[in-house]
Amino acid sequence: MNIEIINTGSELLLGRVLNTHQHWLGRQLADAGYEVARQVAIADTGEAIQAAVSEAMERARLIIVTGGLGPTSDDITRDKIAELLETDLHEDPEVVEHVRGFFTRRQRPMPDSTRVQAMIPDGAEVIMNAHGTAPGLVIPAGESWLIMLPGPPRELRPMFTNQILPLIHERFPRAGGFACTTLKSTGLGESLMEDLLKEPLRELEEQGLVIGFCARVGEVDLRLSATGPSSQALVDQAETIAREVAAKYFYGMEDETLEQTIVALLSSRGKTLALAESCTGGYLGHRITTISGASAVLLCGMVTYSNEAKQKLLGVNEATLAAHGAVSEAVAHEMAAGALRESGADYALSVSGIAGPTGGTDEKPVGTVYVGLASRDGTIVKHRINAFDRETFKFVTAQQAFELLRREVLGIDE
Ligand code: ATP
Repeated sequence: MNIEIINTGSELLLGRVLNTHQHWLGRQLADAGYEVARQVAIADTGEAIQAAVSEAMERARLIIVTGGLGPTSDDITRDKIAELLETDLHEDPEVVEHVRGFFTRRQRPMPDSTRVQAMIPDGAEVIMNAHGTAPGLVIPAGESWLIMLPGPPRELRPMFTNQILPLIHERFPRAGGFACTTLKSTGLGESLMEDLLKEPLRELEEQGLVIGFCARVGEVDLRLSATGPSSQALVDQAETIAREVAAKYFYGMEDETLEQTIVALLSSRGKTLALAESCTGGYLGHRITTISGASAVLLCGMVTYSNEAKQKLLGVNEATLAAHGAVSEAVAHEMAAGALRESGADYALSVSGIAGPTGGTDEKPVGTVYVGLASRDGTIVKHRINAFDRETFKFVTAQQAFELLRREVLGIDE
């Protein structure tokens, strides 16, 4: 089936907003067994919208248009598509009530302009927006089926997953079956992961298994997919083999993050965590507290950027700082042990390093980092070199800290 995506929004073309819908929708559709044949980003002018849609109608059976369904004057997608399809618009009272309810819950007056979002092209199916006001719309367009989705990712994503994908499955059932799973790993590069799995998965590959690696900073996704009647069995067997061969590197599935894994792991065991951060400046705490349920796990996080704070809050010895410097195995050790002692948590992670770009020496180059982990069984410290920009440095260091903790909790060796 030919699928095309049209992302509207001049901000996408001006480079002011990254077109995340393109990769997100592509990934969701691919994981559901549908491939996107073409994707374009266009300005939100009537001419551009109508030209892109009528061109897509010549090729695609399914057209997905994103953005421009809101209440402002530049949100013209709905009107321009209705005009192109020679369809009138009518006001849908249910949508008006939905918009009104949205404002009532926030104790704000409903601006009159927002009523335009309840204007529905005749013949369109309304998809209520659980996270905003503008509904999604599904409408026949010649031989094609056209879906309009709101622009904000936090509205588009749940709508697509919960309401649109089931409709696509219903309308375009995949003939012959499709199965796909993604295993998330950290701690091993893409090439090493491939080397590890190539031979064990070769036989299944010959039977039609498709193996994909997607490397990002600090993690690698292994995507296993297959089509045909035995696709699920093939993917299940491949997953079992991959887990046997590279078990310790896999921390989750699909879109799971390492911090989700950590929170789930600790809370299922009734264990608690404290953080002592220097160079990551609270980033570990930020990632943990992004996860719902973090309060059952995280007791405290101390951002001890200065030597004085390390001494005062964590009991790091002045002599240790003087002898080894703040970025050292000994200090990371005392930071983790101090955080454990002061908080009473079951585990404490510490991080001390040089994010750069300045501050490096021959002995301790930029990117040097010590990650400590204290528990009732003692304290360990790992030395890493993460020579990246400051943001990436923080992300990778947090990955290493969380992975150290995950392996400790699960009793996985190096
Ligand atoms: P709104 O009611 O917010 O106006 P809308 O359906 O009219 O919603 P747009 O105005 O096109 O959508 O976009 C709203 C915001 O959503 C944009 O400012 C941008 O932050 C985000 N957005 C839109 N399209 C994309 C995209 N392709 N990728 C990432 N973010 C996007």
